[in-house]
Amino acid sequence: MGFLEGDEARAWARRPLEERRDAVLGCFARYFGPKALQPREYGERDWMAEELTRGCYGAHFTPGVWTAYGPALREPVGRIHWAGAECSPVWNGYMEGAVRSGEDTARAVLAAAGG
Ligand SMILES: Cc1cc2nc3c(=O)[nH]c(=O)nc-3n(C[C@H](O)[C@H](O)[C@H](O)COP(=O)(O)OP(=O)(O)OC[C@H]3O[C@@H](n4cnc5c(N)ncnc54)[C@H](O)[C@@H]3O)c2cc1C
Repeated sequence: MGFLEGDEARAWARRPLEERRDAVLGCFARYFGPKALQPREYGERDWMAEELTRGCYGAHFTPGVWTAYGPALREPVGRIHWAGAECSPVWNGYMEGAVRSGEDTARAVLAAAGG
C-alpha cells in the first residue's frame, strides 16, 4: 500500500490509470523486487474526488482556527460529547489519536453520568 501526496497526487490524478498503475507498481518493484509488477489485484482511490472530504488523509484547519477556536473543539454541548481523531491532543488525525479520544470521551461521559 502506498500514497501519492501533495503535488505528486495532483499531477498523477490527471494522468491515465494505466500510466499511474505502471508508475506505482514500478515504485513498489524498486522496493520489493520484480514480483511486485504482477499483483493479483490493483486498487486505488482518489481522495480528492471524494465529495465530503475533498482530500486526505488528514484534516487540517486553516491558519488561526486552532488559536481562535481550539478550546471550543472538544467542549461538550449539554449531554453531547465529542470524540474522534481530530479531537485528540495526542496523535491528532491518526488511529492512535482516535482510540485515545474515544477512551477519554467514554470516561468523561461516565463521569458526567455519575459512574
Ligand atoms: C487514506 C487514509 C489513510 C490513512 N492512513 C493512516 C495511517 O496509516 N495511520 C494512521 O494512524 N491513521 C491513518 N489515517 C487516519 C485514520 O484512519 C483516522 O484518523 C481514523 O480512522 C479516524 O477515526 P475516527 O474514529 O475519529 O473517525 P472515523 O474512522 O472517520 O469514524 C467516524 C464514523 O462515524 C460514522 N458517521 C459519520 N456520520 C455519522 C452519522 N451522522 N451517524 C452515524 N455515524 C456516522 C462514519 O461512517 C464513520 O464510520 C488514514 C486516513 C485515510 C483517509
